[in-house]
Amino acid sequence: MTTYQRVLLKLSGEALMGNLGYGIDPKVVADIAQEISDVISHGIQLAIVVGGGNIFRGVKAASAGMDRATADYVGMIATVMNAMTLQDALERNNVPTRVLTAIAMQEVAEPYIRRRAMRHLEKGRVVIFGAGSGNPFFTTDTTAALRAAEIEAEVVFKATKVDGVYDSDPQLNPNARRYHSLTYNHVLTHDLRVMDGTAIALCKENNIPIMVFDLSVRGNILRAIKGESVGTIVGG
Ligand code: UDP
Repeated sequence: MTTYQRVLLKLSGEALMGNLGYGIDPKVVADIAQEISDVISHGIQLAIVVGGGNIFRGVKAASAGMDRATADYVGMIATVMNAMTLQDALERNNVPTRVLTAIAMQEVAEPYIRRRAMRHLEKGRVVIFGAGSGNPFFTTDTTAALRAAEIEAEVVFKATKVDGVYDSDPQLNPNARRYHSLTYNHVLTHDLRVMDGTAIALCKENNIPIMVFDLSVRGNILRAIKGESVGTIVGG
């Protein structure tokens, strides 16, 4: 038995980058695809929101003088590259997958239609949401919270490079303590770097817990699905 049946997994662009400074590491993507394939074999309905920070970040380009909205659209298009790369890796593991984009790109992906996304999930297809929310000035973290609410996911999995949320930076402070659980309000008032504030507020409003855990530990997604304590859980 698993604790969760329908899960929204947020993968940052950096998660696909591995130790490269930029872009996509095919080996890392292959590992993630293998892990997801294990999850799917347990009958879990999985939707994924991918970021694009490994390729392009709107805020960074805007700070160098680019028009912010244009930069954000470029960032959203970058997420589609990640989505398609992940789809390819999943399909090589025989995982049926659909990419749905919030900006229409009909030659390469389906447009985002909520009911269609839910139908794909019911049929056991992994749904990958590309192009963020389709709106500049937002992030893929916020998109993850939004899509989770829309598709009635029971939980958001925020896969990161650390095994949870700490009271101070564990890289700098050897006595840093990891939280087992946190409230949305604590995260918001202390500005803890779990997801951005808009994403936390959306999850709070819709009562969707957020599980923060280390993606690089093999089997962690499935452990989290089974309700094991693999990181920090943020809830009400
Ligand atoms: N973005 C956007 N609207 C959205 C989602 C993303 O404008 O709804 C843009 C924004 O420029 C952002 C970029 O896409 O910097 C990549 O997404 P994000 O930074 O969230 O990716 P991650 O940090 O997860 O890799």
